[in-house]
Amino acid sequence: MKKKLLELTDIKKYYASGRSVAMGLAGVSMSFSSGEFVAVTGESGSGKSTLARVIAGIIKYEAGEMYFEGERTSHLDASGWEEYRKKNIAFISQNYDVLPGASVFSNVVSVLRISGMDKEAAAKKAVDILRKVELYDMRRRRAAKLSSGQKQRLSIARALAKPAPILIADEPTGNLDAENSEKIVKMLAELAHDRLVIIVTHDYNEVEGYVTRRITLSDGLIVSDEPVRPAYEQKPADASEASPKNKRGLPFYIAGLQTRSRPVWAAVTGLVFALTAFAVFAFLGVLIINIDDSFTYEYNPTAFENGDEKRIVVTTIEGRPLTDEDYEKMLSLSHIESLDRYDSAVDVLYAYREGRDYKIDYDSEPEDEYTFEKYKMPESVSLYTSAPYIKTVPIIPGKADAIAEGKKPEGFDEVAAVSGHAKIGDKFRVYLFDKKHFGYKSLLPLDVTVVGLLDEGEGLYFSDDVGVFFMDIVKGKTAEMLIYDENVADGTFLCSPTTAGIYNSSVEKGIDPIWSFFVYSGASERYPLRWAGYDGYNEGQHGYRLLSRLYIISPNDYKQIIGNDTRDKQVSLFIEDYAYADRVLTGLHDMGYVATSPYKLGRTEQNEELAAERKQTLSTCITALLVVVAMQVLLLTAIFSAERNSFRILSDLGLSNKSAKKALLWQLLLFTAAGQLVGGIAIFVSGTAGVERIENMLKYLPLPYVLILSAVHLAAALTAGIFILRGIDKHVYPMAAKNRDILIDEETEA
Ligand code: ADP
Ligand code: MG
Repeated sequence: MKKKLLELTDIKKYYASGRSVAMGLAGVSMSFSSGEFVAVTGESGSGKSTLARVIAGIIKYEAGEMYFEGERTSHLDASGWEEYRKKNIAFISQNYDVLPGASVFSNVVSVLRISGMDKEAAAKKAVDILRKVELYDMRRRRAAKLSSGQKQRLSIARALAKPAPILIADEPTGNLDAENSEKIVKMLAELAHDRLVIIVTHDYNEVEGYVTRRITLSDGLIVSDEPVRPAYEQKPADASEASPKNKRGLPFYIAGLQTRSRPVWAAVTGLVFALTAFAVFAFLGVLIINIDDSFTYEYNPTAFENGDEKRIVVTTIEGRPLTDEDYEKMLSLSHIESLDRYDSAVDVLYAYREGRDYKIDYDSEPEDEYTFEKYKMPESVSLYTSAPYIKTVPIIPGKADAIAEGKKPEGFDEVAAVSGHAKIGDKFRVYLFDKKHFGYKSLLPLDVTVVGLLDEGEGLYFSDDVGVFFMDIVKGKTAEMLIYDENVADGTFLCSPTTAGIYNSSVEKGIDPIWSFFVYSGASERYPLRWAGYDGYNEGQHGYRLLSRLYIISPNDYKQIIGNDTRDKQVSLFIEDYAYADRVLTGLHDMGYVATSPYKLGRTEQNEELAAERKQTLSTCITALLVVVAMQVLLLTAIFSAERNSFRILSDLGLSNKSAKKALLWQLLLFTAAGQLVGGIAIFVSGTAGVERIENMLKYLPLPYVLILSAVHLAAALTAGIFILRGIDKHVYPMAAKNRDILIDEETEA
């Protein structure tokens, strides 16, 4: 006895398009059972496709009732129909509904996965099915490359993969030659052994040898419904036929399948994502940096003579001398390039001749041109311009000192230089002058020899002795200029000649000092000093008071007068870039130090040009950012609309609206992540390759900001996602859309 699988009673279907209404089905009644292989024939426009699509649940009917296994269907809503199609219908159309970019194998596996099978089971079953339709040998080929007959066989394989009780084929052989058509029809007949198969055809001859029943339509009505032969014997249902199980990984799988099976599309999409990520990173990054207007100010050296933007001055809250432990703590911070113990000395400027007469025009009134004899010096170095301040050999993180070759300089006649700028053994004359304490004329010429080399840095690095010496002056520890010398015996004070040229050397013991220096002195009253120099007003020549005395004493005497503690209560840290100043300052404050950026402190006057430039930059960035985001949304919406076709095929196979949407979101997420990775790498590469704005941005933006950049880019992708999902609703799941029939029209006609 035939069991009634499907029953239609007086089904009517109208197509409303614009103001006119077309009749699709004018009231048809019939019933079907499993094992039947039904041919639906009729003229073009007679309603065959309409009938097929109504039965398939692709379009809704307006009147009558369709029963599936005795259950009414007229009350079903969009998701009810979706469920109906997923469980009961396999649909084959004339257009070979295969995923063209995916492999033959993936085409079948995808159906099995949609029906709830896990990866391994699906792969196994796909092999069986492909053997059945004789496509196993081509399993790796992309479906697009198959011949028409093979494509249709593949779509049958896909129908086979779906364990649905009703298979509907709407003119499946429409595009095939006789031989291929025959093969297809034979396969469909085979399938009728465990299901209902309905084939729509305009060429009855093709199917005559196999069908069990023929229905002929005309103008939306049944004109005949005749049995041809007995229904096929029913085989027991395949026990291995898995009922839908775990579908958790399905959207992710579909996302991967869609992406893999359309490489060109994926490449274009990926490129769009990478470009937008790059643009969002770049513009937003520059925007974030320029929100702060600190760059529009200029340095005013009233607070610190050396307002080097990389310098950070550190003291303790209690004002105690700093220890090695303190140094270690400070050096443990990130972005520290070096630590200068004798940082007060940085306020002493130095210069040296470059083979021509050196002219000091540091002060407002350039009075004299100082002419010194020529000394040999390394030509590649431009010390005065690149390093105007005295630096002693710095301590660098993880190392005791920065000397890479040779030794650390000692005394006053040794210096270290930077590799490539000077060699060990180079000799030249340096002029030190301390504008702050002694006026620009207080020059101290030193004949120095390079004894050590640093890998990095600029200019010359002096010994700690020079550092201590100048620190003592700066701190006012010595009103006198006491210079110790190893060669001088205790208790002996030697005085230098001063005001070069006035006196000849008056050194009586030890070395002949190589310098002259102007100092205030009171030491002669406290110590039995012998001195040479110019004491008193020098009205005639210079117009201001210059007391000039320099005392060379022994180390012990020096210590006795100065004290042993040469440690300062202040050090300077030099950071890699001003960009890190805020982070380092915060770090130091957190450690309990008082830290100041002289540069920050000294930035007082707004530079209008820079301020205007900043405004320009801000507005450019905001505009560019809006454009980029809008472009991203538009481009993605356009690009992803090309996805609809494959989603339509997948939805016919039962991919739910929800899963399709999730798969799309997955794609967006994956592309966003990949795009951000590529865009990020591009940013990084262009930053390190010297694109200045980007290089700067990278320094200024700590990691958390990068999350803001990512979020903006992702938000743009998700905004596009809203439109894309709407398109999927409208065009792929029309039942979910309101004016579904009209939309189907568009699709049908397309
Ligand atoms: P067949 O498949 O037998 O050629 P159809 O079922 O496609 O016939 O069409 C039946 C009738 O419904 C025809 O008059 C056709 O013009 C009309 N029709 C079919 N689809 C639409 C549609 N989407 N919009 C408007 N009219 C349609
Ligand atoms: Mg048709």
